[in-house]
Amino acid sequence: METDCLFCKIVAKEIPAEIVHETARTLAFRDINPQAPTHVLVISKGHYADAGAVADADDGLADEILKAARSIAVQEGVAESGYRVVFNTGPAAGQTVFHVHGHVLGGRDLGWPPG
Ligand code: 5GP
Ligand code: ZN
Repeated sequence: METDCLFCKIVAKEIPAEIVHETARTLAFRDINPQAPTHVLVISKGHYADAGAVADADDGLADEILKAARSIAVQEGVAESGYRVVFNTGPAAGQTVFHVHGHVLGGRDLGWPPG
């Protein structure tokens, strides 16, 4: 655990969150500032700065995060209508929390391209 990391604190239950899904190595909770009717963040319980760091770790964790995103979409009822999984990676992409998280967005027409 990184002691000054917001999402590590959510994993440690030091900061409350509305948890909607959990696996051995992932946790998912509602975004505090939702951008769509469904806006869930799926994270690894272990600390990795971003999706690139998870990919480099090469231990099947990226697969587990993507499978969790799929389960969340089904659970939230957006798997049929369509949903988006976004990993903002680095400052230019708008990443503000440097603990890997996939945004699972759905429940409205999301539009393309993103801003
Ligand atoms: P990023 O901009 O890094 O891709 O996404 C970070 C996300 O974390 C944002 O959508 C923001 O609303 C969300 N967020 C920031 N602080 C908290 C918090 O304390 N609790 C929850 N549930 N979400 C948060
Ligand atoms: Zn962390």
